[in-house]
Amino acid sequence: MSELNRVRTRFAPSPTGFMHIGNLRTALYAYLFAKQNNGDFILRIEDTDLERFVPGAIDVVYSTLKESGMEISEGPNEGGNYGPYIQTERKDIYMKYALELVEKKAAYYCFCDKERLETLANSEGIKRYDKHCLHLSDEEVKMRLARGDKFVIRQNMPTEGISEFDDLVFGHVEIPNNELEDQILIKSDGLPTYNFANVVDDHLMKISHVMRGNEYLSSTPKYNLLYDAFGWEHPKYVHLTPIMKDAQRKLSKRYGDANFDDFIKKGYLPEAIINYIALLGWSPKGEEEKFSMEELIEKFSISGLSKSSSIFDQTKMSWLNGEYIKQLPFDEFMKKAKPFFDASCIKDRYDYEKFGKLLQSRIEILSEIPEKVAFIDQFNVIEKEQYYHKKFKIDENVALKILEYSIPKLEAIEFTEDNLHATIVKIAEELEVKSGAVYTVLRIAISSCNVTPGGIVEIADILGKDESMRRFNKALEWLKE
Ligand code: GLU
Repeated sequence: MSELNRVRTRFAPSPTGFMHIGNLRTALYAYLFAKQNNGDFILRIEDTDLERFVPGAIDVVYSTLKESGMEISEGPNEGGNYGPYIQTERKDIYMKYALELVEKKAAYYCFCDKERLETLANSEGIKRYDKHCLHLSDEEVKMRLARGDKFVIRQNMPTEGISEFDDLVFGHVEIPNNELEDQILIKSDGLPTYNFANVVDDHLMKISHVMRGNEYLSSTPKYNLLYDAFGWEHPKYVHLTPIMKDAQRKLSKRYGDANFDDFIKKGYLPEAIINYIALLGWSPKGEEEKFSMEELIEKFSISGLSKSSSIFDQTKMSWLNGEYIKQLPFDEFMKKAKPFFDASCIKDRYDYEKFGKLLQSRIEILSEIPEKVAFIDQFNVIEKEQYYHKKFKIDENVALKILEYSIPKLEAIEFTEDNLHATIVKIAEELEVKSGAVYTVLRIAISSCNVTPGGIVEIADILGKDESMRRFNKALEWLKE
């Protein structure tokens, strides 16, 4: 009977201060799988590499998971029966288990200094550690420990046979044991390496399914040898392919495009990011691509995970983001859009809501807002050709006629939406042109742009009557020149 019959998955980030999209996807799959099986999703902080530790990094992990909508069952802040959940707080646990392995001859003390290891690494042929210290006598080991010599503890790998296991994505994996290095389990600072801590923790935390990047696939036989030495049951392994920027390059911080926070700053919504990355490496059955977290929990399956890496397609993520933006209740859209309006040229000058109504269905990412509203300040000499429009049969003479005729009519009305529409339609009738022609001429005249978010009525409403009339008159002057 398995001890691991309750589904427990973990997300085990190293606190580097940012959340890489690939790590977030690992967390997501682990979360979806746990939730789908009414299991537990555990957060464990892997901070034994002290040099890489970044203050505040755990907060970044927490805020990202929260924004993404993932609920943690057990973790540093949540507590749980298998804590502590921060590895540096578990230091004594690892040492105790390492010593158990030494006792069992599955591990040994190594006192080799840097120079010796460097000589080995630079030697011809096999560059792996040569088991030198495995052959020290018990007396010598005792003496050197008593003397306070610096040491590490290494795993004693078998030199014959093969190690094999089945990965739920990659299938059967086999590695000849003589290719496995006697890796370090406990470093000279007394802290464990990832290679040791992951095994001890996954066992003690009763992790049933280990989901992680496939860079750990080839080390997994070593981990299994550790489980065997302790007499522990192996977890199931689910190794995930990386997310690529293109065929050659992994998505990485180096290219400035890999972090959750950066995407949020650019104006992507967490639910769109989550939806998109779920599809990077996992194929749902059917054509549907837009999934809420609940739907992802229901539909996710390990069998849908891909063995080949996936390429990050920002255009597609942007499209999906646009779909999510359209769906937001207006108030919520405005809340999220506000910082982007604040960063635009209309800051504190115009009614954000009026722009919001225009833009919500016209942008894919919120950071498009400043450029979309920029036209408001770009009123400038209009070239006559700008008015040319085939379908509405507009040329500069038609434009002149429309503008000249419209100005007094517009001057005479109060600028409400209804009045403006009614007046424009009436002008079109009286001039015997299509109403589209009047809308177009006035829109170009008021903005000096051929493409604007929104039509003349919305723009006139935003600018107000005085400014609108000033612009119409100016445009008329330019047309007459
Ligand atoms: N701390 C490891 C990393 O961030 C986690 C690997 C794992 O999930 O076991 O790469």
